[in-house]
Order: sequence, then C-alpha cells, then structure tokens
Amino acid sequence: MSECARCGGKAFYTRKYSGETLCSSCFKDSIVEKTRRTISRYKMIRPTDRIAVAVSGGKDSLSLLKVMVRLYSRRRNPVLAISVDEGVEGYRDEALEHARSLVKDLNVEHTIVSYKDLFGFSLDEALDWKEEREVSSCSFCGVFRRRAIDEAAARARATVVATAHNLDDYVQTFLMNLMHGDVARLGWLDPAYSDDSFPIRRVKPFMEIYEEEVALYAFQTGVPFQSVSCPYMHEGLRSEVRDYLNMMEANHPGIKNVLLRSSLDVITRFSRSSEKEAVPCARCGKPSSNGLCNVCRMRAEVEEHVK
Ligand code: SF4
Ligand code: ZN
Repeated sequence: MSECARCGGKAFYTRKYSGETLCSSCFKDSIVEKTRRTISRYKMIRPTDRIAVAVSGGKDSLSLLKVMVRLYSRRRNPVLAISVDEGVEGYRDEALEHARSLVKDLNVEHTIVSYKDLFGFSLDEALDWKEEREVSSCSFCGVFRRRAIDEAAARARATVVATAHNLDDYVQTFLMNLMHGDVARLGWLDPAYSDDSFPIRRVKPFMEIYEEEVALYAFQTGVPFQSVSCPYMHEGLRSEVRDYLNMMEANHPGIKNVLLRSSLDVITRFSRSSEKEAVPCARCGKPSSNGLCNVCRMRAEVEEHVK
C-alpha cells in the first residue's frame, strides 16, 4: 500500500469517501480528533460537566471510553464509566468483564446498576413470557435501559451521559423511525436535544464516525471483541436497513455522510417546531406523556406475569 498522507509512514487504510490514506497511528489520532470536533461542533460537553460514558462492554463503548479519557484526562472534566447489567446470562457477563478490565486499566470510577436491583427482575426473567408480547425484545429492553442509565448516571453524580452511537447507528435509527411512522421520536436524535424525559443530558460523540472506523479503531487499540451475542437480539428491519445502506455506500462512497447531514437538518428543524410537554408519572414521578411512564406501564405487565 502507499504512504500515509499525514506522516509519510506505511499506510494501512484508505478512507473511500475522502481518498485519504493513513498509517495506523495517524488513523487512531484522526478518530480522536474527529470525536473532539463533533463534541465541539454540537457543544456536547460543558466546562463543569462530569462525563459518564455508558459502557456496555461492546467494542464501540469501550473505544469511546478510551477516546474520552484521552480527550479529557488533561482537562478538569472527570470521565466516569457507567454500566447496566440487564441480566442476560453469558452475554452480559462477558461484556461486563471486558468493561471492568478496561476501567481498571484506565483508572476510571465505575458504577454498575442491574435490572434486578432497580426493577425487581432480570431481562431473562422478564422475557420468559415474551412470546405473548407485541413489542420486540430490544424495544422492551431499551425502555428499561434508558431509565437504568439515568439511575446509574445520577448515582455517579454525572451531568452528561455519552453513548457510543456511531454514524451508521444514527442514520439507521433515523430511517427506521420514518419507516415505523414514529416521527415524534425524531427529536431525540437532535445532538443538542434535552428535555424533561432525560433529566441528564445525552450526547453521542461518535455520531460522525462510520461504524467500520470505530471497529477498526477498536482493533488497532487492542479493545476486546465479544464472542457471545445477545440471545434476544432479533434485528429484523434494522439489519435490512444496515445492509441497504452498506450497499449504497459501496456504490456511492460518502452517501452515509450525506444522509447524516440531511437527517440532522430535518431533525433540527423538527425538534425546534415540536412541542415538548410532559406530566409526572403517577407511579414514579418521572416525566411521561400521559400520566404513566413507559417504564411503570411495562413494569406492571412484567410483575403480573412473573408473579
Ligand atoms: Fe437488550 Fe436487545 Fe441489547 Fe439484548 S440486544 S441487551 S435485548 S437491547
Ligand atoms: Zn413511572
């Protein structure tokens, strides 16, 4: 392969969408630099923030933790790790092992919360009766996970939560919301979005980086890859959307980037014009759209079946 466009060293990767050829070291630096630019462009981190990185133990979140520690170690913002144990035997145990080990290496404070402690059931227990449900396992799990992340962040006294969603996740979610007719959720994708339903701000510092490049960064920096996948993951529509976007990107390099820009444009206009009204949930007091939040509604259903 040719030379690195930045340092003249031995190149190992070419960005098809820009034609830039990079060596391993300049590639890794470029990921850190891109993340820094995204954070600054969308004003994701404030000078007094305590930053909690949501670490599932997958390669993306472990990479994000590494990058955030590198970016903020010399500044005043503390970087912490928070993890959620959904209670999926085998799968989450392995991921949490990876998380614990990296957190120890980086000397970062780590807060772990579990579904069992917070809601009284593990995901394994709750999904025992899932055949009867209409919602997919991941949508079901996601409702509890968002709440669990808030709890973990509150315990860690964080003021902002950084999640590892990358550019591919972002545009897939955008298209899937359109395909599900879920236009009201588009506002949540606004990089600067904050409202009462997320008491602690959420930011996505990897949202302008291709999934392929996050994986490459993980590989190049020795982040472990999980050997087990979640037994409940049935991606259905998402994997079709992913395959379609990958095919389009192969034929038209850079098209995912254009789609990201267009999505952001639509989302920003949309969230400025949409109303954000919330009323307290009758059971837990957290904001809800109709007096009972999704967590309490679904929790009541699980409790009924699990008992
Ligand atoms: Fe939950 Fe789906 Fe992730 Fe499994 S893959 S932990 S069900 S969100
Ligand atoms: Zn509630």
